Amino acid sequence: MSISQLARSLHESATLRMNERAKIMRERGDALIHLGSGEPKSKVPFDAILNASSKLVSANVKYTEVDGIPSLKKAIVRYTEENYNKIVGPENIIVSNGAKQSLSILLQSILNEQEEVILLSPYWVSYPELVKIANGIPIIVTPEDGGYHPRIQDIDMAVGRYTKAVIVNSPCNPSGLIFSRDFIAEIVNYCERKGIYLIMDDIYHKLIFNGKSFISCYDFAKDQSNNSKLIVVNGVSKLYGMTGFRVGWVIANTHIVEAMKVIQSHVTSCPSVVVQAAAAGALTGIQSGVESLRLTLENNRNVMITELKSFDGVKVTKPDGTFYCFPDFSAYNKNSAELSEFLLRKVMVVTVPGKEFGMDGHLRLSYCGTIKDIKEGIERIKWAIDPNSPNEIYIGDRKLVRDWL
Ligand code: PMP
Repeated sequence: MSISQLARSLHESATLRMNERAKIMRERGDALIHLGSGEPKSKVPFDAILNASSKLVSANVKYTEVDGIPSLKKAIVRYTEENYNKIVGPENIIVSNGAKQSLSILLQSILNEQEEVILLSPYWVSYPELVKIANGIPIIVTPEDGGYHPRIQDIDMAVGRYTKAVIVNSPCNPSGLIFSRDFIAEIVNYCERKGIYLIMDDIYHKLIFNGKSFISCYDFAKDQSNNSKLIVVNGVSKLYGMTGFRVGWVIANTHIVEAMKVIQSHVTSCPSVVVQAAAAGALTGIQSGVESLRLTLENNRNVMITELKSFDGVKVTKPDGTFYCFPDFSAYNKNSAELSEFLLRKVMVVTVPGKEFGMDGHLRLSYCGTIKDIKEGIERIKWAIDPNSPNEIYIGDRKLVRDWL
């Protein structure tokens, strides 16, 4: 079979692969606990549903403007002003089918062949592949101090004549870390000085704990002109529990938006009008659901961290946001793919190997499920790998006796 080199060079999304396996196991009736999920359980806001259904009921579901319907763009203009204190116009916005597609089309619009994009490890699984799809080269920067917080000096060492962009994701999937105000200020200034694009992936920007607040990159931008290379990516998937709707957007200078429009017009024409109407409803409707999701996640995070602290060998940094944490399990197994597979097989707990995020030895665990799942999931993991745990456990109605430690 003749398959392109590009297709052969890409890896399947590890998170989606785990979701598929989880689905099969659940359908088989296995007592599975899914700590690998990347979507909140919260219901889609009523205003989103109302808008989407009235669009459907109108029976007038057609192509829209390539870059998004005016009412959604207007909602994004307002959202950006309220949350970023930044005034943008509709000409600075392009809506796509999820932030993933926003990033993909964005990278295709700015990268020439072999140009490099700096990714900060641990990074979201899709970044390297999205860069490759756009014919670019992902350059991974790992903090030299062994932590999760990126440092400008490490980034500076990796920036060269082929560097086109840096992607920053704070709060970060998978670590849950919010990068410091100083770092955001420095990276904005650094990219401006170097003349490289800075792409801020802010998809988790309201899922923030410990009384911290979101840091807007625009606060530090000196270049407010239409040549600014500062780009923001956002969407409704995570904050509004609307992962299935597939709506994301980019805010950028008009040259970038125009370039993206051309590509998008050939790839998808436009996002579906039904989901765009839903997103406009979510952004302009009652916002209390976002805060209640945030509170639930903060509580879930506390439970997960307490449970993880009961392991002697696990090192975990308390996340400031998102619904993930990224503990270091290397004291038990340095090979995260092997460990993740072992946990799935032995105790039916889904995790995502840290290797996929650029840091082996870690596992990404999500706490967007129920407290019961979090507690039981961690208890099962402990039973499977920690010799100090009792050697019997009930999984569903089966009693298991550990015979491998
Ligand atoms: N960026 C990050 C960091 C993410 O975690 C995700 C979803 N997992 C996305 C972008 C894409 O979100 P969506 O395509 O659902 O809008």
